[in-house]
Amino acid sequence: MSSDQEENIIKKYKGYLIDLDGTVYKGAERIPTAEIFVKELQDKNIPFLFVTNNATKTATEVKENLLHNFQIDVTEDHIYTSAMAALDHLKELNIGKKVLVVGEASLKQEVQSAGFEMVDKDPDFVLQALDRGVTYQQLEAACLAIQKGATFVATNPDTNLPTEKGFIPGAGALTAFLKACTQKEPLIIGKPYPTIMAGAIKRMQLDKEDVIMVGDNYNTDILAGVHYGVDTLMVLTGFSQLVDIEGKDEQPTYILNDLSEWEV
Ligand SMILES: [Mg+2]
Repeated sequence: MSSDQEENIIKKYKGYLIDLDGTVYKGAERIPTAEIFVKELQDKNIPFLFVTNNATKTATEVKENLLHNFQIDVTEDHIYTSAMAALDHLKELNIGKKVLVVGEASLKQEVQSAGFEMVDKDPDFVLQALDRGVTYQQLEAACLAIQKGATFVATNPDTNLPTEKGFIPGAGALTAFLKACTQKEPLIIGKPYPTIMAGAIKRMQLDKEDVIMVGDNYNTDILAGVHYGVDTLMVLTGFSQLVDIEGKDEQPTYILNDLSEWEV
């Protein structure tokens, strides 16, 4: 079969899971090809869900950022953060309502809206995300609670966040702290782990065979799809480049320079 023919039989997907930073925008920078791609999905009524490991913003805050900075007009239903996935999962586990949160105001707000009770001690869960205002006392409380048997859940594994200053500590760095003082492994929700994928696909009400994961980060977006059995589309507009995936056993289903090369 010639490569032309192969191109003609590219599968049509019924739903798209789409990473945000590096895929739809890059920090404060626009990625116009991605904006057009999202518009095409909207015009053709193809379901999509933005799936992000960032647990420091509520769905409403993500929506506002997309609207005001990137001309992308979506509803909250189109956004699925690792915080939302964590709360979906905590509900499914159904082992209690008391949560000790190491996280920022947005996460605390979501924990409460989801019907959980925030406590400082004797929780059923310790839910840990990035907290840029964390104190020793809060880490101590989380550490003691996990030692006493609270279920340790971390929103996402990202150890560093790229900024203009350099790679600053992310949620995963705080997880490493709590792992060190408890010797306990957390359940990690975000990409590349399966919980966020399972939650996202459940929300879309589609079969995983009909869905594709679009992202810029091989280690999170692409491996999340590969491990969960979802096709993947890697774009070279963000973090990972071709050199990063050379020789890897697990390859993306598709690799594109940007989303203008994709037909929905
Ligand atoms: Mg990304």
